[in-house]
Amino acid sequence: MRAVKTVQQYYTPGPEILWMLEQFRQMLNECLRIGLSENVTSLKSLSTKAYHQLTTHDLMSYYKLCAISKAAGILRNYHKAVRKNQRTREPYARRLQLTTCYGFKVKTLDKTLLLPFKPKQSLSITLNAHVIGILSEPNIQIRSVTLTHERVSICYAKEVESIQPRGLIAIDRNLDNLTLADSQGQIMRRDLARATLVKARYQEIRSHMRRNDQRIRQQVTSKYGRKQREKVKQILHHASKQIINDAKEKEFGIVMEKLTGIRRLYRKGNWQGRGYRGRMNSWSYYELQRQVEYKAHWEGIPVIYVNPNGTSVKCSICELRMKPEENRQLKCRSCGFTVDRDVNAARNILARALRFGAVASAREAMVQEPQRRVILKVDADELTKSAN
Ligand SMILES: [Zn+2]
Repeated sequence: MRAVKTVQQYYTPGPEILWMLEQFRQMLNECLRIGLSENVTSLKSLSTKAYHQLTTHDLMSYYKLCAISKAAGILRNYHKAVRKNQRTREPYARRLQLTTCYGFKVKTLDKTLLLPFKPKQSLSITLNAHVIGILSEPNIQIRSVTLTHERVSICYAKEVESIQPRGLIAIDRNLDNLTLADSQGQIMRRDLARATLVKARYQEIRSHMRRNDQRIRQQVTSKYGRKQREKVKQILHHASKQIINDAKEKEFGIVMEKLTGIRRLYRKGNWQGRGYRGRMNSWSYYELQRQVEYKAHWEGIPVIYVNPNGTSVKCSICELRMKPEENRQLKCRSCGFTVDRDVNAARNILARALRFGAVASAREAMVQEPQRRVILKVDADELTKSAN
């Protein structure tokens, strides 16, 4: 199995690199225009149609190929989105971003990245010690380089052997914490309250803005949005790293819920008010999963996704719907089990994965859970009765 990671650093581009970025953006838009007007999405047909039209651009052919393949990817996503929503906006690249998989060289001894510019002429970017340290690791292949006007990201890969897990750790993500339950019966919690605080603080800054100029408002908002994301990302990196270290040490696989739409994110019916749910940012849920997943792959730790339906409300012993009590506790009226609701959710996630066998592949574990509609309906009737 191939595992992929990215390392990035800030840099200041010279005029030549800025020129290349702008050329790449224009080429990308040209490929998108061709792809849309001729209705092609496959990389092959887009290459035959677009390549000779890119001759007006003076960039080296490495970049042309990358622009075409990037455009093909964007078009594929666009067509997928159109099928769901007719009013999806046609893709157009505004940001300066250049990706290349060919022609560049990383010189770890000179601490530089060399990018082809003109025949027999390269541009160099100095890489910092952190990046060089990572790229000097043995068994690593450098795959691609992405440049923006302020950042250079280098993607690298290695072949890893998947470990045969001795057990599983289930992760339940909540607004304020991560709750982990493993197959040895251990329960752990990682505090994420700081991430929530960061979000709340930036939201406040944004809400106090009274400038009427829409454009400045957008600029400031996006600036704070970016800062907020960077801070939350750091907090999540810390948490995901600890989880992976723990899993690696125990040789355990990882189980998470498959995030589907907004249903699970907002946990409707889990007695969280609208304001409380409003502060949740679905982005950070995906970000945590993304981090856990790529870090796990890098260590050969298998990741399993399970159906999230009802993990927050069903009893983790008898699977019946539970009743909320004080202090985030849930009580099962059937078996009398009383438990913290986050712990209950983590145990449910773990149980779902175990039911399919600890070494089941991700796809197998995602098979639809058997529905217990009848029982749930009776339960709902009882609830209304007791409410009256
Ligand atoms: Zn129960």
